[in-house]
Amino acid sequence: NVVEIFEDKCIECGLCVQACPADALDLEGGPVQVDADKCAANGECVEVCPTEALALDTEEDVDDKTKETKEKEELPPELQQYKGVWVFIEQVQNEVAPVSWELLGEGKKIANDLDIELSGIVLGFDAHDIAHEAISYGAEKVYLIDDPVVKNYRTRPYTEALVKLVNKYKPEIILLGATTLGRDLAGAVATELETGLTADCTILEVDHATRHLQQTRPAFGGNIMATILCKKHRPQMATVRPRVMEMPKQDRSKSGEVIEEEVHFDENNIKTEVLKIIEETKKAIYLDKADIIVAGGRGVGDKEGFELIKELADVLGGTVGASRAAVDAGWIPVEHQVGQTGTTVRPKLYIAAGISGAIQHLVGMERSDTIVAINNDSDASIFDVATYGIKGDLFEVLPPLIEEFKKELA
Ligand code: FAD
Repeated sequence: NVVEIFEDKCIECGLCVQACPADALDLEGGPVQVDADKCAANGECVEVCPTEALALDTEEDVDDKTKETKEKEELPPELQQYKGVWVFIEQVQNEVAPVSWELLGEGKKIANDLDIELSGIVLGFDAHDIAHEAISYGAEKVYLIDDPVVKNYRTRPYTEALVKLVNKYKPEIILLGATTLGRDLAGAVATELETGLTADCTILEVDHATRHLQQTRPAFGGNIMATILCKKHRPQMATVRPRVMEMPKQDRSKSGEVIEEEVHFDENNIKTEVLKIIEETKKAIYLDKADIIVAGGRGVGDKEGFELIKELADVLGGTVGASRAAVDAGWIPVEHQVGQTGTTVRPKLYIAAGISGAIQHLVGMERSDTIVAINNDSDASIFDVATYGIKGDLFEVLPPLIEEFKKELA
């Protein structure tokens, strides 16, 4: 590492030559010259130069440059040919999980950033309509395997199909929904491909210099946000929970290419068989699809207190949410839990009553369009993310609110 010289700025004043303790500079025959063997890059010449004709790479610059070169070098040439963003389009009985469309929206941003193509992957039977729908949500290409063997999800044939497509087309990035199906498939595919997988990402960005996908997710019980890189393997795989990313607008006028692929599955090698699909009989709590959520926390006090939360949710046509403290206390079933170990939600309106705003709760609801927080402690963290904060006792605030909404919405 030697001092850098900008000859056009040198006025040949000789101050640097005098300042150099290593006798590494001389002015004979024009602008200052450096003897690289002698230069110790201690910077004294830089300090005395009146015209900024000398410069020294700061430690940070050097570190950044070495880091960048090292990271570039870390990816073997055969992996540098991996290009394109893929989104796995999840279907169950030909009904697509909305998270797939959300991921096409996010995938588009990444593809634009890296100047590469966005493709959807559809596995199913009689699934051509799904392939075309994926194009309307932003996919430029859709790879389709339309085969009765992959009509219903089974780990083995789905893994075999996806691995085969990856090995043939070599995508740089694959995104899947962090659903029960997506989590199972992503793990199996990443294992077969011997690549990295980051589960439950909440932020996805790209580093342009290295082309690494920066996969951010809560870690250590939600106390820190960790950014994870997959530096030495391709494709880079990530799952994202439903409702974390924004739903893109559908545009049915968009055109794209559907590429049909075949896999010669051997049923004898598949150890599972789907005998029957039984619809869930219990009324499911679709928290992740709700536009309005009224959520209660420990401040609600007891099971009876939750009646007030339910009443407001009913009046507004919303769904009841809860903090883990309320669930753990047995006041409300776990299906209502919002947060890191509950459901991630993104409603138009989230009303949080008697919830302090612990990080594990916030990661599950902070992207709601409008947040109204009701809490009797003005220092509660929930107010930091709230659009409107009401400081007060929820038992005094909620009843008049319910009455007013009843009148307004009657
Ligand atoms: P508290 O923190 O006790 O807050 C109660 C609030 O109610 C206080 O702010 C108080 O001022 C207010 N209050 C009391 N009485 C009234 C009143 N009459 N009127 C108005 N306000 C009142 N938590 C989740 O919610 N979801 C998760 O998914 C989740 N996952 C977790 C995962 C891990 C690994 C860990 C370690 C924790 C997790 N938690 C989760 C728990 C989380 O850390 C908090 O403990 C929890 O969110 C607290 O719930 P709370 O806000 O209802 O209770």
